Amino acid sequence: MAGSTDCEVLVVGAGPVGLLTTLLLAREGVDVTLIESLPDVDESPRAMTYGPAAVIELERAGVAAEARAVGMEKSDYDFRLRWITIDNRLIAEFQPEDRIPGSFDTVICGQYQLAKILKSHVEKCQGAKMLFDHKLAEIKETSESIIATVETPGGKKEISAKYLAACDGGRSTVRKLLDLTYDGFTLPQWLVACNVRYPFKDHGFARSQFVVHPDHFCLIAKIDPTGLWRVSYAEKDELTREEVLANVHDKFEALFPGPKPLKKDSYQIEMVSPYRIHQRSAPSYRKGRSLLAGDAAHACAPFGGMGLTTGICDAAGLADSLVGVLRRGCDDSLLTKYADVRREKYHDVTHKVSYNNTCLLRDTDPEKASEVEFFKTLNSSPEARRKMLMNAYTLGHDFKQYWSTTGQTPSKGSSKTPNVDAKPIPPVATTTLGI
Ligand SMILES: Cc1cc2nc3c(=O)[nH]c(=O)nc-3n(C[C@H](O)[C@H](O)[C@H](O)COP(=O)(O)OP(=O)(O)OC[C@H]3O[C@@H](n4cnc5c(N)ncnc54)[C@H](O)[C@@H]3O)c2cc1C
Repeated sequence: MAGSTDCEVLVVGAGPVGLLTTLLLAREGVDVTLIESLPDVDESPRAMTYGPAAVIELERAGVAAEARAVGMEKSDYDFRLRWITIDNRLIAEFQPEDRIPGSFDTVICGQYQLAKILKSHVEKCQGAKMLFDHKLAEIKETSESIIATVETPGGKKEISAKYLAACDGGRSTVRKLLDLTYDGFTLPQWLVACNVRYPFKDHGFARSQFVVHPDHFCLIAKIDPTGLWRVSYAEKDELTREEVLANVHDKFEALFPGPKPLKKDSYQIEMVSPYRIHQRSAPSYRKGRSLLAGDAAHACAPFGGMGLTTGICDAAGLADSLVGVLRRGCDDSLLTKYADVRREKYHDVTHKVSYNNTCLLRDTDPEKASEVEFFKTLNSSPEARRKMLMNAYTLGHDFKQYWSTTGQTPSKGSSKTPNVDAKPIPPVATTTLGI
C-alpha cells in the first residue's frame, strides 16, 4: 500500500531495466508506477544478447523462453563464439562442448523486443501503472517521500513515492538532478550498430564472431532466424555523424566476406545507429530515496555484452532490495547495500571485461594474436574455456539472502552461480558475447 504517497516506488524509464524492475516489484505486490518520456519503448538497435547472470534473472522473471522464441532457432543452441581476422581466419573460439553443465540456454533477442515482452508482462500485473509520454523534469525529497514533477501532454503533474528507481539511461535526468557525476572516459571511436540482411553463413560465418583489426574491429552476429544480422563496427573519431553514415558502404566493403567489389544490392540495411562508447559510472548508486540502475548508473563498451547484462542484474537486485525493505521487514540500509554491491560489480567485472574486450579487438596484431594470453588460454582446453565462461556468473548477486536478516546486512553475500564445481578466475578474462 502506498499510504500517503501516490505509489510506493516510482520507476523512471521504460527501457529493459525499468520494465524488469517494475515487473519484479509488481509481482511481489508492491504498488509501482513507471513513467517513460517516449510514446512507447525505444526501438534503436542496441543489445541483442545477454550474459548468463542476466539469463538467470530473465528466467526468474518468466520471460526468457519468450525472448528466445523471437531471436533463436534450433541451431543457435549450439553456442559458438569466434574471434577471427578480417579475412575470416580463426584465431580462437568457444565451442558447443564448452558449455557449463546445468547452465541455461543463452538468450538472443533485440533489446526493444525484450522490452516489448517485459511490457506485455507488466500490463498483466495489478498494482503496476505504466505512463508513456511522461517525462520526469524535477524531483524534491521530504523526510517521508520523494515527489517528481512530470511533463505530460496534458501539462505538468506531480507523482509522490517512497522510493524512486532511476532507470532512465545513460543521459539520466535523475542522475543530473541528484548532482551525481558520471565518472570515466569516452573511447576515441564511434561505434556503428547496423541491422543488415546479408548471407554471412554462405561465406563460412558462424552465428557470432568478433573481427580483430586495428581500424575495422567489429562484431558480426546473427540476430534472428529471418536472416537479419548485427554488424557493429568501429569508425574514426574525427568523422561527423553524417560522414559516419555516408561511409557505411565502404565499411561493409572492408568487412563483408564474399565477392569484391561488394554490390550495393547484395545487402539490405534495416537500421543504422552511430553511438559514442563510454566507460563511466556514478560515484554512488544511491542518494536519499533515489536509486540508480542500468545505464543511468553506468555505461560500458558493448563488445562483451556487459551493458544490459549488468543492468538486468541491477534491476533484479534493486527489486529484491526494495521488496526486502517494503515487504520483508528489512532495514532501509539494504538499499545502500544494493548501491554498494552493484557499483562494486560494475568496477570489478563490467568495466574490466568490456574495456579489455574492446582493447583486445582493437590493439591486438591479428597476425600475432595466437601469442596473446587471452587467446592462448582460449585455445588451450575445454576446461580453460569453461572457467572463463564460469566467471560471467560473478556479475549477479542474490539480495534475497538478506531478507531473513532484518536490519543486518552481512558484509559479504553470495553471487548466483549454477551448481557446478569451478573455481573463479580473475574477472578480466570473462566474456559473454556482445552487440
Ligand atoms: C550498439 C549497442 C549494442 C549493445 N549490445 C549489447 C548487448 O548485446 N548486450 C548487453 O548486455 N548490452 C548491450 N548494449 C548496452 C545496452 O543497450 C544498454 O546497457 C541498455 O540500453 C541499458 O538499458 P536501460 O534500461 O538502463 O536504459 P535505456 O534502454 O536507455 O532506457 C532508458 C529509458 O529511459 C527513458 N527516459 C530517459 N529520460 C527520461 C525522463 N526524464 N523521464 C522519463 N523517461 C526517461 C528513455 O526514453 C528510455 O526509454 C549495447 C549498446 C549499444 C549502444
